Amino acid sequence: MAPTHVLRCCQRSLAWIPVIFIALVVCWSYYAYVVELCIFTIPSIGEQIVYLIFFHLSFIMFVWSYWKTIFSQPDNPSKEFRLPKADKERYEKEERPESQQEILWRAATSLPMYTRTGAGAIRYCDRCQVIKPDRCHHCSACDMCVLKMDHHCPWVNNCVGFSNYKFFILFLAYSLVYCLFIAATVLQYFIKFWTLCRRKSAENCPKNELPDTHAKFHVLFLFFVAAMFCISILSLFSYHLWLVGKNRSTIEAFRAPVFRAGSDKNGFSLGFRKNIAQVFGDQKKYWLLPVFTSQGDGLTFPTLLVPADVEQQATVTLQPEANKSAAEVPVSPVSPVSESHNHLLSNDLHANNIGEHQANNTHKPAESETITISIESES
Ligand SMILES: [Zn+2]
Ligand SMILES: [Zn+2]
Repeated sequence: MAPTHVLRCCQRSLAWIPVIFIALVVCWSYYAYVVELCIFTIPSIGEQIVYLIFFHLSFIMFVWSYWKTIFSQPDNPSKEFRLPKADKERYEKEERPESQQEILWRAATSLPMYTRTGAGAIRYCDRCQVIKPDRCHHCSACDMCVLKMDHHCPWVNNCVGFSNYKFFILFLAYSLVYCLFIAATVLQYFIKFWTLCRRKSAENCPKNELPDTHAKFHVLFLFFVAAMFCISILSLFSYHLWLVGKNRSTIEAFRAPVFRAGSDKNGFSLGFRKNIAQVFGDQKKYWLLPVFTSQGDGLTFPTLLVPADVEQQATVTLQPEANKSAAEVPVSPVSPVSESHNHLLSNDLHANNIGEHQANNTHKPAESETITISIESES
C-alpha cells in the first residue's frame, strides 16, 4: 500500500473523532437525563412522564437531522460540466493560460453559469477537471467539487452544501432545542443539588432536599454541558439563519460571487420569502422535517441580476472581442448561456429562475463577432 494512501486512510479515520466525541456526549446526556434525572432524582411520576415525552421528541429530531447532515453525500457537478475529451486533451497540452481560458470559454457557452473568477475567467477546477457551476467550490478536505458549498464542517465530518444545507440548519435548530430543554428542566435540580442533604436516602432527608447520591454529578454536569452547548450553538444558528434570509453561503459571505456586473454579495438573493423557500422548499409542512425539500438542482440558481435591470423587451448587440484572449475579457457582457438550447435550463429550477424575468438569450460563440440578447419582460 502506497504511503500516501495510508496517510489518506489515517486522515479519514481521524476526521471521525469530532463526530464520535459528539455521539459519546449525546449518549451520556441521554443516560444522565433519562436514568439519573428522571428515574432516580425526580420524585413525581407525572413530571417524569412529561419530561420524558418532550425529551424524546427533541432527541429524535436532533439525532435524525444530525444523521442526515453527516451521511448526505455532497452533490458534485454533473457530466455536462466536464470538458469534452478533445477539449480536455487540448487544455492539458496547452501551456499558456490565455489559450486554456479560451478553451474553457468556448466549452462554457453551452453551460448555465452566471459567475466568473475575480479576474473574469471561467471557474475551472484543475483537481476535478470540471468547470465549476455557480456557487460550486472545491473542498480540499473531501477532495471534490461540491455544489453550493457552504463550508466543510468537522463536527459532521462532511461538506455542508446543496445536498444537506437544510439538514445542517435543522441540526443546529434541534440541538439548540435539545440543550435548552435539558438546561431548563435540569435547572431546579441543579440548584437543589447545591443545597443537598448529606444523607444517602431520600426518606431521611428534609423536605425539598435531594440525597447525596451519584446522580448529583450527572445532573450538575448535565446542566453545565447543556448551557455551554446552548451558547455556542446559538451564535452559529443565528448566523446561518441570517445567511438563509440573504440566500448567501458562508463562502459567499466572505468572498462575494462575481457576476458580469462585478461582485455582489446579494447576487443570489430573491427576497426574504423566496430565499427561505430556496433552502426549505415551498411546502411549510416539511420545513421542520429533515427530508430534502430544497429548490433546484444545485447546478443553476435564480438570480435577479440576469437578465440585469430589464423592465421591457430589449435587444442588445455586443462585441465580445473574440480575437482577444479569453483571460483578458473581464466578465462576459452577456450570459454565457444559450438558454433556448440548453437542456439543463429546461428544468423546474430554471423555470423559477427565468419565470419572473423571462429571457431568451441567443449566444453565438466566439467565432461570431455579434451576440444578440432578446429579453422579454414578464407578461
Ligand atoms: Zn474540484
Ligand atoms: Zn468537504
